Amino acid sequence: MAEGRVYNFSAGPSAMPLEVLQEVQREMVNYKGSGMSVMEMSHRSKEFMAIAAEAEKNLRDIFDVPSDYKVLMLQGGATLQFSTVALNMLGTKGKADYLVTGQWGEKAHKECNKYGTGQLACNTKSTKFTTIPQKSEWKLDTEAAYVHYCANETVNGVEFSYTPDVGSVPLVADMSSNFCSKPIEVGKHAYIYAGIQKNLGPAGMAVGFLRPDFADGSKELKICPTYCSFKTTGDNGSMYNTPACFTLYVMGEYLKYTKKVGGLAHWAEQSDKKSGMLYGMIDGSDGFYQCPVEKSARSRMNVPFTIKGGDEALEKKFLDEAKKHKLYTLAGHRSVGGCRASLYNGLPLEGVATLTDFMKSFMDENRK
Ligand code: PLP
Repeated sequence: MAEGRVYNFSAGPSAMPLEVLQEVQREMVNYKGSGMSVMEMSHRSKEFMAIAAEAEKNLRDIFDVPSDYKVLMLQGGATLQFSTVALNMLGTKGKADYLVTGQWGEKAHKECNKYGTGQLACNTKSTKFTTIPQKSEWKLDTEAAYVHYCANETVNGVEFSYTPDVGSVPLVADMSSNFCSKPIEVGKHAYIYAGIQKNLGPAGMAVGFLRPDFADGSKELKICPTYCSFKTTGDNGSMYNTPACFTLYVMGEYLKYTKKVGGLAHWAEQSDKKSGMLYGMIDGSDGFYQCPVEKSARSRMNVPFTIKGGDEALEKKFLDEAKKHKLYTLAGHRSVGGCRASLYNGLPLEGVATLTDFMKSFMDENRK
């Protein structure tokens, strides 16, 4: 059992800023003199409507969302968005392009094939998802209903450092694992969605920024469940049914905290520093630690690495010893093994400093 709080490198749900947790704790049983917890409140109450309205406004301010875009606050996480995107955006074209650079993009592509044709504009599976090919290698169809990409592949540690240019075809992004970590170009996308449990709150919700031409239901498939309809969600201010009230409230607190500390520029600076420190350690280890991802595609959020070329016994020893330094949840995804450090907003800089110090001493002791 850990004593006190640990440095939590989990890929999600993940570390939250302590200040946000403390504020939620303060308000837990009696929210601002309402006599009840947000958990107990009607979603139609004036207190909760104010919480939801403020969260939406802060999303718009922080992410610089164009005023004609809808901001959607959705239940079901990012996986439900895989189908929701296809159900609302395929329209009569019936086909969409997918840039597959990791396991989440692969899942999104597979889901599209249930409702239409998901075309592979690129697929880096043969590289074990360690690269992002140049645009000249993408097979883009100008008649596709949209192009989907995953801005940060959480399992594989691959991140787009730019907004893909796909011409006039609507661009859709899964930003679940690098949302709220840097400024983004919302206006270049027809739809951005993100499950919030990495960088913006607890699990249970996704946020979406939707261009108006996809908010009117004109491209919605007949079989789209009402629950998944962008039009229904947008027309009802994300309250067609009971929202994930408590999750939404905690996200609101996270957004207020984000504004207080300097917005996305602050998180971007922190992410650059944290990932720079860790990659510096890995690259300076003379091969003791190795990151399989091509340098230009490396993620600032999720850093996979192996020890001594994938020595499983040594990796297990590393994970066990790390815990003695309060360094937790550093195991790689079950499908890829090795180690992985996720460096979301809630993980403080000193957590990465503690990790790199530990990595150095572990290397010195185990190099031979
Ligand atoms: N997309 C990405 C990039 C993710 O990292 C995840 C979860 O880790 C998902 C989608 C699926 O999210 P959820 O578990 O909220 O459905």
